[in-house]
Amino acid sequence: MINRIDHIGVAVKNLDEAVDLYKKLGFELKEIEEIPEQKVKVAMLPVGESKIELLEATAEDSAIAKFLEKRGEGVHHVAINVSDIEKALENAKANGLQLIDEKPRIGAGGKKVAFVHPKSTKGVLLEFVEG
Ligand code: ZN
Repeated sequence: MINRIDHIGVAVKNLDEAVDLYKKLGFELKEIEEIPEQKVKVAMLPVGESKIELLEATAEDSAIAKFLEKRGEGVHHVAINVSDIEKALENAKANGLQLIDEKPRIGAGGKKVAFVHPKSTKGVLLEFVEG
């Protein structure tokens, strides 16, 4: 059911600047996508089967803007690729974990995603991704 690390989300203040920096380290930019529902712009940089996901806020009230204000730039979440996201959420809930999303929503790349609260996962904001 748990397949691999899908990506690691990194909150940045300026996406273009961050992409340039990662390119200097040898990463390649796969795509940049804006996700209006989440008020973010994301850049995907492949790392084998996984990716680094750079996230820039597109609004003051974006979760990423709040994160940057509180914690500054850095690792924001870890995304786990699962075969069945509904089952993964059901299982997490049955085990008493606090979910941010009771139901999956559509995230980057049009994939189904859902977040588990960091209070339940030793301080790590966990994202499930299906597909
Ligand atoms: Zn993510």
